[in-house]
Amino acid sequence: MGALSKAQPVAGLTHESAELLRNPLTRLEAVAKLCSTYLDGVDQRELLNRVGLAGYATADGLLDGDENRHGQETTDTERAVGPTTRRESTSSQPVRNATIAQQVKKLHGHACQVCETRLWYKRRPYSEAAHIRGLGSPHDGPDELPNLLCLCPNHHVLFDGLEIYIDVDGVVRQTHGDAPLGRLRQHVDHRIDEAYLQYHRTLCKFAGQAGE
Ligand SMILES: [Zn+2]
Repeated sequence: MGALSKAQPVAGLTHESAELLRNPLTRLEAVAKLCSTYLDGVDQRELLNRVGLAGYATADGLLDGDENRHGQETTDTERAVGPTTRRESTSSQPVRNATIAQQVKKLHGHACQVCETRLWYKRRPYSEAAHIRGLGSPHDGPDELPNLLCLCPNHHVLFDGLEIYIDVDGVVRQTHGDAPLGRLRQHVDHRIDEAYLQYHRTLCKFAGQAGE
């Protein structure tokens, strides 16, 4: 008790620990570490759900039951021409910057960075802008170009569902499979921040452990 008092804990944490946990990657690693070290053998999805951390089960922080999951994407075109205010929705996702979403799609010519698919929908090319570190809680990723990928709907769902990730060597790999999907297509004017990819990889690793 004396040692604890000396350390002056803040809600059970020292100032240093609390400060460290402000870093989203450190926070995620702490949650993953706690789960794998002390909570092995319990239903971790259920547990995270109960303590309000269920968002760690997906890259975008949205849950399977959330309405409008990926529904936002169908309105990207509307958003591009309309005001960028919050849409009437039950989802708590922050407003997306439609301009940078359009920018990443345009840079890649609407071709998926994983499979090169270029869809046509209503006589127009169609692709989706995927956030690497999700905008929503608990990820709180930034809405900026280095945190975006241009993906087809299939790979967007797989990326958000933590089924695929971009490895350090730039190869797209499966969380639950061995066969790599090939190298991520890059564009010279679209710099992707490795820190966001690392965050997403850590989430995938965590999801892989929790699902075992
Ligand atoms: Zn694709």
